[in-house]
Amino acid sequence: MAQLGGTPILILKEGTERRKGREAQSGNIAAAKAVAESVRTTLGPKGMDKMIVDSMGDVTITNDGVTILKEMDIEHPAAKMMVEVAKTQDDEVGDGTTTAVIFAGALLKGAEELIDQEIHPTVIAKGYKMASEKSYEILDGMAKDISKEDEELLNKIAMTSLTGKGAGMASDPVAGLCVGAVKDIEEDGEVDLDNVSIEKKHGKGIEDSVLVNGMVIDKEVIHPDMPKRVNDAKIALIDSAFEIEKTEIDAKIQITTPEQMQAFLSEEDKMLKDMVNKIISAGVNVLFCQKGIDDLAQHYLAKEGVVAIRRVKKSDMEKLSRATGAKIITNAEGVMEEDLGEAGLVEERKIGDDKMLFVEKCKNPKSVSILLRGATEHVIDELERGANDALHVVAAAVEDGKFLPGGGAPETELSLRLREYASTVGGREQLAIESFAKALEVTPRTLAENAGIDPIDALVEMRSAHEKGNKTYGLDVYTGKAKDMLEEGVIEPLRIKTQAISAASEVTTMILCIDDVISSKGGGPGAGGMPPGGMPPGGMPPGGMGEED
Ligand code: ADP
Ligand code: MG
Repeated sequence: MAQLGGTPILILKEGTERRKGREAQSGNIAAAKAVAESVRTTLGPKGMDKMIVDSMGDVTITNDGVTILKEMDIEHPAAKMMVEVAKTQDDEVGDGTTTAVIFAGALLKGAEELIDQEIHPTVIAKGYKMASEKSYEILDGMAKDISKEDEELLNKIAMTSLTGKGAGMASDPVAGLCVGAVKDIEEDGEVDLDNVSIEKKHGKGIEDSVLVNGMVIDKEVIHPDMPKRVNDAKIALIDSAFEIEKTEIDAKIQITTPEQMQAFLSEEDKMLKDMVNKIISAGVNVLFCQKGIDDLAQHYLAKEGVVAIRRVKKSDMEKLSRATGAKIITNAEGVMEEDLGEAGLVEERKIGDDKMLFVEKCKNPKSVSILLRGATEHVIDELERGANDALHVVAAAVEDGKFLPGGGAPETELSLRLREYASTVGGREQLAIESFAKALEVTPRTLAENAGIDPIDALVEMRSAHEKGNKTYGLDVYTGKAKDMLEEGVIEPLRIKTQAISAASEVTTMILCIDDVISSKGGGPGAGGMPPGGMPPGGMPPGGMGEED
């Protein structure tokens, strides 16, 4: 509010709320830290799960950082920025979302202490930037090579991402399926995970989950007389309705005698029969149709032993095309042999209470399916989130060809090396780099806390291992000792860490540099922000970002 000759001039609409300076800053930092705090207890193999009940009463039980944050109805603008960190991490790597968010929380906590010591946010931002650049360099030096052929290592990467998902379910079988799927669809070093479809059916156990070299479709064969199993399938994909085309214009046909009626019907009949014959002579024995199939045509197809499926989703048609090599055609009559795709086996199977169609043993499928099984829907949903994480990390490892030890090993190493680096920088930036180094320790510390291990003992143990040059030593959450994570098989793609560091340091810098929050009323409930130190809905236990060491 400016003053002109003693009269205040209002430049903002009445009712607009405005917070400035330290008040704005500490409000934002508190809200962002609260978000980090809310997912903290889920980190690592011993992390706990959360049960989130939405306004419709639907229950989600999960351990997945990004899922928790998406499900929580977060209103505060700075808190929302933290949710974005998790989402970006999820998009870019598919895993490490909790890590990224709690690291951002720790960075903010450090920054707050520096601000209290009258260090300007821009200096902190600069120091954080220098620290993250240095971190990429150190991580790059630490990373080891991996290729698509290193199946055992890829399996460990998938397992590391799956451990702790879903209340200690044995998710080992799923790791192998994820690795297999990524290997199948990898092309010229690129992995497009859109080509992996995940189907879920509850009933039976996780170990009954399967990878299908082709497709599993939640559809059944349309006619009871059609075979339920076809070997050496020749597959046609048709995206229009399988029926006699109706004329566009209204026409009236005068039928005066029963013979004429018969002739008309049998003409239609004959046309359908011709259509079916064309399909048969092209060699088709399995037909997928995106639209409907005429009843009579179904009957003829069944008589010829052709399996037909109707109303297949467009996206599934595309995947079928990539899996079997079939071309999607519009005109059933124009089908040619070269348009057809192949699969070693097409079979309808009963899965749980439903029938599903398996198109498998495809020769060189560029699209595959994973069928997940598990006792209940909640179990399967969490398993699906786990499988998604695992697919992404395996893909990231294959694409980048680099991996790191997990269990807090990279963070411990970075923390030590950055402290050394800080002393060479000097000035006020040194303090910011040191604060960054300390913030990195939030990962090992939280892993320990969540496993019921004394965090200070754990940190001391890990630091001393790293000081002796054991760079790959991380926390064994089962014994509380520092162990070689490569030997333990706890490994992660390099991208998980670089992305978490870049997303977290960017968001903290952004939050730190805000010193004026202007919020207009009526932008939705709570849009005016919450009081400094407030918490997003969902609540969380009091307490800061963990114990000080
Ligand atoms: P995020 O959402 O960040 O992926 P997770 O709950 O999946 O959170 O935990 C990931 C962290 O747990 C990583 O630091 C990873 O290295 C660590 N981790 C996973 N498995 C183990 C294990 N067996 N022993 C120690 N640490 C592990
Ligand atoms: Mg994870």
